[in-house]
Amino acid sequence: MKVLVTGGAGFIGSAVVCHIINNTTDSVVNLDKLTYAGNLENLTSVRNSPRYAFEQVDICNRAELDRVFSQHQPDAIMHLAAESHVDRSIDGPAAFIETNIVGTYTLLEAARNYWQQLEEPRKAAFRFHHISTDEVYGDLPHPDDVANTESVGAGHARDIDTELPLFTETTAYAPSSPYSASKASSDHLVRVWRRTYGLPTIITNCSNNYGPYHFPEKLIPHVILNALHGKPLPIYGRGDQIRDWLYVEDHARALYRVITEGEVGETYNIGGHNEKRNIEVVQAICTILDDLAADRAPDGGYETLISYVKDRPGHDRRYAIDASKIGDELGWQPEETFETGLRKTVEWYLNNEQWWQRVLNGDYQLVRLGKK
Ligand code: NAD
Repeated sequence: MKVLVTGGAGFIGSAVVCHIINNTTDSVVNLDKLTYAGNLENLTSVRNSPRYAFEQVDICNRAELDRVFSQHQPDAIMHLAAESHVDRSIDGPAAFIETNIVGTYTLLEAARNYWQQLEEPRKAAFRFHHISTDEVYGDLPHPDDVANTESVGAGHARDIDTELPLFTETTAYAPSSPYSASKASSDHLVRVWRRTYGLPTIITNCSNNYGPYHFPEKLIPHVILNALHGKPLPIYGRGDQIRDWLYVEDHARALYRVITEGEVGETYNIGGHNEKRNIEVVQAICTILDDLAADRAPDGGYETLISYVKDRPGHDRRYAIDASKIGDELGWQPEETFETGLRKTVEWYLNNEQWWQRVLNGDYQLVRLGKK
């Protein structure tokens, strides 16, 4: 199989590309515009493989997409290219509307045009896999708001231990940020291209990822790198927001399982069974750093750097995924617990200072800017 991966130079996309090249006999065409979030240095382990090709293309550029489809003749698409940072979507939503909505529409049309011309059996086997987020469902009642936990609409499951509601594949969409609204729009477009035109689509909605090669604007790498530099560790509000954390390599395995074994027209939620408050995440990082980077620790340990800042507008209180469908139907389970995955992540940042130094000082962008 030849898989066209969009956004393959990003955090999750590069884990997907590496997973496919290193663990299967499939080929990958990585199609990426190389925005600030795209970094070809995430792909050093695969970029000399004869089964790997790169195309620097914007998913909003229909002519270039048509050229790539015609030249590479993919069997499947895994669509990860997106603007992905919630805070940036609040400061400047335009790029989110453009890439996440218009770009997905443009890709769907280019894929439909290509797919309609395929001969059987390749036509029936073709897949368009759209990678989305659990943020499309809005937020869930928080355990601190006892009165709230019953007031949940249809389409939720209940956690067997806490009885708190969880997102399922049938939870109604209620996005809270420009980012999640743009992803919700793109999910609707993908479903409609299936229903109206018969394009063989599958959607996955995933919880928060973490792991190696995560861009330092996101919570976990931001905290690790600030701590190593002795800078404040900013926590929004009281730090009680709950996220359901998934190790990125577990996500990459799940996505490959879905594209190879998932049912056309279905949606699968992917989560790590790891609900954590943001403050717990930051404290856990500090504890690991106290152990692994004691020589750089401030007096009193890394937790002394924690600093509370004004909360993000519209900040969702809690996300949590019921991932039983992908477990029951496709046999996928996460391999990492939060404790093992977080320790691996901190170790990776400690061992790969050159990668993040080049990200922090902008050197990784030389390729994008045509200077390398
Ligand atoms: P990322 O920001 O790290 O990477 C996005 C990639 O897309 C970058 O390489 C960027 O250059 C590329 N890109 C952006 N605009 C493009 C365009 N117009 N044309 C072509 N390429 C473009 O994002 P990520 O964290 O790897 O997320 C990947 C996907 O997974 C996104 O669709 C995101 O919504 C979804 N997702 C992410 C998470 C998470 O926790 N990170 C969770 C659930 C779902």
